[in-house]
Amino acid sequence: MAGHPYSSFTRHHEHFDAIVIGSGMGGLSVSAMLAKAGKKVLMLEQHYILGGYTHLFRRRGYAWDVGLHYVGQVHIPGTFLNKAFRYITNEQLKWSPLDDIYDRAVFGDKEYVFPRGKENLRAQFKEYFPAAEDQVSIDAYFTLLEEVEHIGVGYYIEKALPVFLSKLIGPKLRSKVFKYSDRTTLEVLRSLTKNEQLIGVLTAQYGDYGLQPAESSFYMHALLANHYMDGAGYPVGGAGSIAETVVPVIEAAGGTALHQVRVTNIIVEQNKAIGVKLADGKTIYADNIISDAGIHNTYHKLLPAEVAKQHHLEEQLQQLSPSGAHMGLYVGIKDTPENLHLPKCNYWIFPNEYNHELNQQRYENLDATLPVSYVSFPAAKDPDSQKHHPGRSTVEVIIIVPYDWFKQWEGTEWRKRGEEYQQMKARMAEKMFADLYRVAPQLKGKVDYFDISSPLSTKKFTDHPFGEIYGIAHTPKRFRQAFLRPQTPVKNLYLTGQDVMIASIAGGLMGGLLCASAILHKNMMGVIKKSIQ
Ligand SMILES: Cc1cc2nc3c(=O)[nH]c(=O)nc-3n(C[C@H](O)[C@H](O)[C@H](O)COP(=O)(O)OP(=O)(O)OC[C@H]3O[C@@H](n4cnc5c(N)ncnc54)[C@H](O)[C@@H]3O)c2cc1C
Repeated sequence: MAGHPYSSFTRHHEHFDAIVIGSGMGGLSVSAMLAKAGKKVLMLEQHYILGGYTHLFRRRGYAWDVGLHYVGQVHIPGTFLNKAFRYITNEQLKWSPLDDIYDRAVFGDKEYVFPRGKENLRAQFKEYFPAAEDQVSIDAYFTLLEEVEHIGVGYYIEKALPVFLSKLIGPKLRSKVFKYSDRTTLEVLRSLTKNEQLIGVLTAQYGDYGLQPAESSFYMHALLANHYMDGAGYPVGGAGSIAETVVPVIEAAGGTALHQVRVTNIIVEQNKAIGVKLADGKTIYADNIISDAGIHNTYHKLLPAEVAKQHHLEEQLQQLSPSGAHMGLYVGIKDTPENLHLPKCNYWIFPNEYNHELNQQRYENLDATLPVSYVSFPAAKDPDSQKHHPGRSTVEVIIIVPYDWFKQWEGTEWRKRGEEYQQMKARMAEKMFADLYRVAPQLKGKVDYFDISSPLSTKKFTDHPFGEIYGIAHTPKRFRQAFLRPQTPVKNLYLTGQDVMIASIAGGLMGGLLCASAILHKNMMGVIKKSIQ
């Protein structure tokens, strides 16, 4: 810990208004909102870089983001998300829009583009599917998306209400959503169309929440489709700019954010959270303890077992399932995005089969055909990339993999997992490169550097126990779990981040907003709308 600000800081400031465990989007947003309300916040992150899934990592002169490739609505002035990011960063974070075609889905050798704007997207789908019955189905689909757009407010406001009030009016506030959240995406889409190709294209972005249409809640699908309807933005300077612009806001109120500080326990006395114990044995106290570490880590690992037992928290956890894990291929090329013709968009690459369930069933082991690969070009999306990394470009390929396939290497150390593991990674890299070259053949022979991560890397750097990328799986059941809220049965202990709301950068931020609303007894949505024009 030599040179780490931790020892000197905590010696002088031993009590905080709030300690936030984890510096992901949910930790950053709640910390900034509390700081702006004058609270002294200590944010503790176990990784050596702040930001959780928004962290940026650098190697050999290249920089890659991990869990942020595009965010909807942030690039459009006047939207709530644009205002919320301006609020938590004191106007310091800037967004750069992606191309008007922000997503491209490739099935075999046929490409389907997703243009910005509802009517453009509708017209585009209708062009791809000109049959009269498909046109009717596409209109019905957009009508459903519009219905969903306006029904969620009560569902989420309920989460920030005091528990007694939520028990009283919660069921009514939540009920509107169930009509859409109780059914799977596939059930709903099959009620609109029999055209499996159309369903395959409409759900081409399913990787954004990690569950095939047969398993995902239609509500999640609709939230996501609406989120990206007007295109997407990317943070100027890369995903790491979020933490960089939030930390000064925390510091301005006397707080701080520390990395490489692992919380091992939440200290509870008489059912009240009063502090945390760190890996080095030190204890720090605060009026409120907020966990961004995920509900599983918080209840299973950080709370004393007797407290979890008293409140039947393990039973709650048993009702939840983790989302999927991933492998990431991080590629570096010594040339500019312009010279390499890299687009500011993402590709979803599928086999020549539109049925995502079938593709998934055939994905029985690491040697099987990939059901989907995702390709992003961060250096092209970031207008400042050449300022920070002149003459260099980065590319990322992501695939979803079951955590179980990696269990055999669980006990091994990062970078020393053995020959068999290295060979497996090399085989996977080959398949991911093959998909990359399907959409960017101009990159063949130009790769200067690459590395590949596995769910075990994710587990090491984020502490998510199954390397899960989206917290709890977005099944219909998840949206019925009223306990996924900031308040916990332990006084002054709160949850923030994607498990409170939904996965995504916007979901993490809104999880923090609900948490801040619950702690400050204020409608933070109203506060933000009022203070940012
Ligand atoms: C590969 C990938 C791609 C994605 N792409 C996108 C995208 O393009 N757009 C989008 O909107 N969303 C995307 N997401 C989803 C999005 O990144 C997440 O939903 C969101 O960032 C989650 O934020 P969070 O704060 O809930 O959790 P996290 O970001 O996971 O943060 C939790 C933090 O807690 C820390 N922690 C855990 N335990 C402890 C402890 N004991 N002590 C101290 N610290 C601890 C962890 O190290 C971590 O930093 C992607 C995610 C992944 C993984």
